[in-house]
Amino acid sequence: MEKILLNGELVNRKIAIDIEDRGYQFGDGVYEVIGVYNNIAFKLEEHLERLFESAEKINMDIELTIKQLKEKVLKLKKENLLKDGLIYVQVTRGITRRNHAYLDNKIKPNLIAYVLHQNRLPSEVYQNGVPVILTKDIRWLRCDIKSLNLLPNVLAKQNAIEKGAFEAILYRNDNITITEGSSTNVFVIKDKTIYTHPANNYILNGITRQIILDICIKLNLKVQEIEFSKSFLLNADEVFISGTYIDIVPVSRVLGEDVEFTNQKSITFKLMKELNKLTMSI
Ligand code: PMP
Repeated sequence: MEKILLNGELVNRKIAIDIEDRGYQFGDGVYEVIGVYNNIAFKLEEHLERLFESAEKINMDIELTIKQLKEKVLKLKKENLLKDGLIYVQVTRGITRRNHAYLDNKIKPNLIAYVLHQNRLPSEVYQNGVPVILTKDIRWLRCDIKSLNLLPNVLAKQNAIEKGAFEAILYRNDNITITEGSSTNVFVIKDKTIYTHPANNYILNGITRQIILDICIKLNLKVQEIEFSKSFLLNADEVFISGTYIDIVPVSRVLGEDVEFTNQKSITFKLMKELNKLTMSI
């Protein structure tokens, strides 16, 4: 029987969620997704640090230390024999009588975690790249918080899939600035320089994004963390997206636009190779 982590205890998956859990009613909570490669939870500490940061930003106390949570998450992984896949961790503000305000500061947060056995994407995806669509970023102004409120991301991704694309790349409502993907960060390469949106309130500072920036320093590649426009992306030499467990995925084209990105023998492939070394050698 699959075990899940519920407030520090490993229990059977069949549990009831209270209808007044604030995560369920308001999306009042935060989460993380951690990739597991060949038995190793990659960058687990970094993910948990970001979880605690997200919680702090919404004035929520997780009531555990990172070290304590790390041990419990590793126990969950072991108990479920997870070799390759994902660990999902979420903390909601807890259960109270329905009211937008969480008047009681002593609500007990609800922490759950479970595992998803999952294979990596097929190698053709990495070889050939994927099509994307461009769509309006209709999210709130605190995208740096990994909150449970994902409705705009859900709608954008659904739109992409229905159109035959892999991801929706978002642009802010000034109709110009590319922010990130619905569940990925976006990088473009022009004249051997790598561009990505600055890590501010308009994007989630991806753990994979941070690793890629470290790799760029190591490889002496020129990086600009600055805002760039839709037309800059469409005129780029290479485009790729990044995220946990998918790592780096090259973008082959933008649906509805007459552009194709040639990723062969590219900087994107160099970065993919370096990131692979990290996930495979841990
Ligand atoms: N942006 C958004 C909106 C995301 O949901 C994700 C996935 N968590 C990312 C970027 C990529 O972040 P990471 O590399 O930490 O998975």
